[in-house]
Amino acid sequence: MNTEKTYTLRDLETTEFSGTPLAVIGHPIQHSVSPAMHNAALAKLRETDSRFIDWAYYRFDIAPEDFAQALALFHKRCFLGLNLTIPHKVQALDLIQGISPDAQSMGAVNTLVWNELGYDGFNTDGYGLSRGLELDLGVMLKDANVILLGSGGAARAAAVQCVLSGCAQLYVGNRTPERLQNLLTVLGGVAGSTSTQTFALNDLPQDLPECGVVVNATSLGLQASDPAPIDVAQLPAGWKVYDMIYNPTKTALLEQASARGLPIANGLSMLIHQGARSLELWSHSAVDADAMMTAACHSLKLPPRYA
Ligand code: NAP
Repeated sequence: MNTEKTYTLRDLETTEFSGTPLAVIGHPIQHSVSPAMHNAALAKLRETDSRFIDWAYYRFDIAPEDFAQALALFHKRCFLGLNLTIPHKVQALDLIQGISPDAQSMGAVNTLVWNELGYDGFNTDGYGLSRGLELDLGVMLKDANVILLGSGGAARAAAVQCVLSGCAQLYVGNRTPERLQNLLTVLGGVAGSTSTQTFALNDLPQDLPECGVVVNATSLGLQASDPAPIDVAQLPAGWKVYDMIYNPTKTALLEQASARGLPIANGLSMLIHQGARSLELWSHSAVDADAMMTAACHSLKLPPRYA
C-alpha cells in the first residue's frame, strides 16, 4: 500500500489495509507530515524488532459529517492506532470507549488505541509541548511562569499540561473573552496549585516576574503576513518565547523576540514529541524521535536537525 497517498472514506470501505495499519485523520490533511514521521520511526523499529514488519501509517481525509461512520470502519478494519487532528479532536469524545484522565481534562483526544470494543482516547499534545519546551528552551514547566496565548484546542491542552506539571503562575490571554472564560472553566476542574490570571492580548499583565516562557497557541502567525499576537517589547528580558506554529518556521512573534535577544523556538519539537508519544502508546516500545525529526524536516524542506 502507498503511504504517501491521501485516502478517503470510500478507500476505507473498498480497500484492504493489511498488516497493522495506523493512520492520521483530518480535514484538510494533505499537508500533514505525520505519515513521513511515523513511517520513518517504524522503519527504525523494524531494524531491531520483527513485530513491526507489517506496520504502516496512512493519511485519511475524512469530513466531520463522515467521522462517526469512518471511526466504526477503522475499528472494524483493525486500525491499531489513529491520530486525530483538526476538526476531529473534540467530536471523538462521544464516540470512544475510554479516555485517559489528562485527555478528559483537556476535553480533546489526538490519539486513539484500538481495543476489542472500540477505541481508547489519549491526548499527547501537552506532553509534546512540555518536551519541546524542555529540549529547545531548557524550560521545565514545574514552577515555571507561563504566558499562554490562545484559548482554542491547543491552548486548552497546554493550559491543562501547565497545571498538571505544577507551573507556578499561568497568564492566559485570548482575543475572544468568552473562549477565554471557557478555558478557565476547564482549568477549574483540574487539581493543582498553579495560580491563574487572564489578560487581553493587547494588554500584557503588569509586574510580570523576571523570567518565564511565552507559549503561542493562537493561529496568528500561520500566514506569513500575520502580526505578533502581543507586544514583545513589554516582556522582561529573562523571558523565552515558544510558538506552536512551525510552518512558517519564524513567525512575527519569534522574529520580534529574537530581535530583542530572547531565546526562541517553534512548534516542530512539539509536533515530533506528540507523535513519538502516540507511537509509544501503540507500540509499547521506545521510539526514535530523531528519525521522526529527520523525516519531518525533509518533508517540510527544512535543514535536518535533532529532536
Ligand atoms: P483553534 O482551536 O482554532 O484555536 C485558534 C486560537 O487562535 C484561538 O484562541 C483564537 O482566538 C486564536 N486566533 C485565531 N485568529 C486570531 C487572530 N487574528 N488574532 C488573535 N487570536 C487569534 O486552533 P488550535 O487547534 O488550538 O491550534 C492553534 C495553533 O496551534 C495553530 O496555529 C496550530 O497550527 C498550532 N498547533 C501546533 C501543534 C504542534 O504540534 N506544533 C499542535 C496543535 C496545534 P479566538 O478564540 O478569539 O478565536
